[in-house]
Amino acid sequence: MRLTVIGTGYVGAVHAACMADLGHQVLGADVDPERIAALTAGRPPFFEPGLGGLLKRAVDSGRLRFTTSTAEAARFAATHFVCVGTPPLPGSGAADLRFVEAAVDELTAHLPEERDERVLVVGRSTVPVGTTQRLAGRLGTAADLAWNPEFLREGCAVQDATRPLRIVAGVGAAWAEARLREVYAPLTRLGTPFVATDPATAELVKLASNSFLATKVSFINAMAEICDATGADVLTLARAMGADPRIGPGCLVPGLGFGGSCLPKDIRAFAAGVEDLGLGESVAFLRQIDAINSRQRLRTVELAAHLVGGSFTGRRIGVLGAAFKPGSDDVRDSPALAVAEAVRRRGAHVRVHDPEAADNARAVRPALLFAPDVTKTCDQADLVLHLTDWPQYRDLDPAELAQVVRTPAIVDARHTLDAAAWRAAGWTLHAPGRPRHA
Ligand code: NAD
Repeated sequence: MRLTVIGTGYVGAVHAACMADLGHQVLGADVDPERIAALTAGRPPFFEPGLGGLLKRAVDSGRLRFTTSTAEAARFAATHFVCVGTPPLPGSGAADLRFVEAAVDELTAHLPEERDERVLVVGRSTVPVGTTQRLAGRLGTAADLAWNPEFLREGCAVQDATRPLRIVAGVGAAWAEARLREVYAPLTRLGTPFVATDPATAELVKLASNSFLATKVSFINAMAEICDATGADVLTLARAMGADPRIGPGCLVPGLGFGGSCLPKDIRAFAAGVEDLGLGESVAFLRQIDAINSRQRLRTVELAAHLVGGSFTGRRIGVLGAAFKPGSDDVRDSPALAVAEAVRRRGAHVRVHDPEAADNARAVRPALLFAPDVTKTCDQADLVLHLTDWPQYRDLDPAELAQVVRTPAIVDARHTLDAAAWRAAGWTLHAPGRPRHA
């Protein structure tokens, strides 16, 4: 099949490469010429494990091309996936649909008058419930609109896109469902469930799923707060709770909370949208989830302040991690970067290390200092903060690092360091929600 992907950011670039890998002829379009130049050369414009290989294979096969011209995209295919951003509006946090509307309008303006096949525009961006219905009018009779939300996670996006847990197709007509079934046939043949539904339900599946995952994260972080006050151990609690299949271990992971370009913005946009419907009480819990999440950052800053004697002034803090999660160079709403910046603002001398995200982090937090390796980051530090769970930090030699710092004290905000090994090497290790010596 011939397909286009409009918007080639994290979602669009991965979707385009994945669709070409499945055997489709794909044209990716974006308004950002630098992004298109990189992709055309088979180079991912951001760090995502496995994407380089997938992209290169797809470009070399001749099945994947890129363009900055929406007009070319409109002529290329009868099925168009829209993967542009839906950032938060300042103030309300509601989803800004400007880019989706522009992409749909540009596409509609350039659709050829005559086509053998009916044209299907398929939204993949995360949008408020009712968006498909509201936007359908903009397409007039030129095309039908469907919604097919994307569920990939940065850091394992290629795996999520090539082996999705489910495909949700919100369609208004049988032919549109048939078209999407054909697109995804190589995946459904391998057993991926295909859920065909109406557009509003499809839009809601995405928002409800992200809200549920965020709830699990904030739930266990609220339990961590209770553990701190009572001496209980949040890691054992999470393991024991997660063993119940009705609860499950996924996202029941205490730590610094969620961040990135999706969960925080999606739950705020969802809450704002539902409040507009006059159903605020139904999503009041999401405001709590958000508040618990933000509090984890603050709690980490307060713990750090306490550990350096109450004031950061003149203190050297080494920060391990800037990306919002390991396996990604994305620093949008990164909890790690927020903590690093808060500590700097309170007077500390902060050095940050991240194996992939340092450039992106420097661009948004120019006042922070970045070091090329962990040793330089922790040189003469009064305290080390482990804030992003990169696997390489688990492999650090605590005895070696103890020689570099001024005081061997570390906050393991991600609970993934071997506490016993670090303590045996002379470190004081603090892990929120865990007893002092657990
Ligand atoms: P992104 O910011 O990385 O990429 C968006 C791209 O769209 C950019 O390259 C931009 O230049 C391009 N664009 C904007 N307007 C355009 C237009 N009119 N025509 C062509 N291109 C245009 O965003 P993203 O992270 O890929 O997210 C896209 C959507 O998918 C959002 O709604 C997001 O919430 C959702 N989503 C994201 C993820 C994720 O992990 N990043 C996962 C699932 C869903």
